Amino acid sequence: MKVPLSKPSIGEEEIKAVSEVLKSGNLSLGPKLPEFEEKFASYIGTKYAVAVSSGTSGLHLCMKLLNLKQGDEVITSPFSFIASANCILYEKAKPVFVDIKENDFNIDPDKIEEAITEKTKAILPVHIFGKSTDMDKIKKIAEKYNLAIIEDACEAVGAKYQGKKVGSLGNFSVFAFYPNKQITTGEGGIITLNDEEKANLLKSLRNQGRSTMSSAWLAHDVLGYNYRLSDISCAIGIEQLKKIDYILEKRKQKAKLYNELLSELDVICPEFNEEKSWFVYVIRVKNRDHVMKKLIEKGVACRPYLPAIHLQPIYKKLFNYKEGDFPVCEKVSNSTLALPFFTEIIEEEINYVYNTLKEILE
Ligand SMILES: *Cc1c(COP(=O)(O)O)cnc(C)c1O
Repeated sequence: MKVPLSKPSIGEEEIKAVSEVLKSGNLSLGPKLPEFEEKFASYIGTKYAVAVSSGTSGLHLCMKLLNLKQGDEVITSPFSFIASANCILYEKAKPVFVDIKENDFNIDPDKIEEAITEKTKAILPVHIFGKSTDMDKIKKIAEKYNLAIIEDACEAVGAKYQGKKVGSLGNFSVFAFYPNKQITTGEGGIITLNDEEKANLLKSLRNQGRSTMSSAWLAHDVLGYNYRLSDISCAIGIEQLKKIDYILEKRKQKAKLYNELLSELDVICPEFNEEKSWFVYVIRVKNRDHVMKKLIEKGVACRPYLPAIHLQPIYKKLFNYKEGDFPVCEKVSNSTLALPFFTEIIEEEINYVYNTLKEILE
């Protein structure tokens, strides 16, 4: 048996929606763009949403909104997908890492204050693997030092914090729709926010800095980019959003089944949390690399998840980071393993992963 690591949940509805856009002739900047944005904003509970070409471009535009100067600092987590730190570098600012908590792998809010300097401009928490960061503590610190909060919610669509959806808790938040995320648009991302002026600026920045007034289409007010999301992608997004409750519920059930089976093995299962949106299923295991090799031999796709950002060659080169700088992150990142996990994974596949893992561990 072969079990893939991830697979998008795409049905006839998405296929039909895409072919309708193709037939309409309106492939970009058509009616699907504002429709997707309005529906997404209303799902998250923000006034505005601005769709962009990827989660990474969304994070980059949020950094632009901060008007960072060279040498400014943004506090973030070293245990994340690399884009959440790279976006700070794009604007010549410095990502300042703060170590994580061992229970949920999120940035440790109790260690943030000691990392704040005169140059700190913002905090960029990542809701890693779909589990919300402790936003109350982060908000208190942000208020005390007058810092902006940018939520990296790329792995956390639908996740909640004290009953409120993530993506509505900071100044600006970013979601991503690559095919391994909970919902997909092929490639894509979206920024959620409540500030109308900033939403208009984002719409201009994603479209070459064009004025959002259509009468001045060729006036470029600011230095912009092509970070647009096509109507084809938006049409997929609209259909995916209609199914999101089903998708998140299915994923929760699958994670529960994994937890029940794996709890008898010598592994650490992810914490179950009602407010979490399940992005990946990541366990911690001794001899991770050996276990991973054996699983792959038996047809079970898996991946070390995630490598520490500060130990990536480019970060070591730029900032001289070394092993031991963020010990909790390193300990976690040396033992974590993502197992096959997606909305339509069937019980048979989960059983196969469990039995294979059991054999390897015995
Ligand atoms: C997926 C992801 C991103 C970026 O998304 P892309 O759409 O691939 O650019 C950013 N941050 C985190 C934590 C992610 O998981």
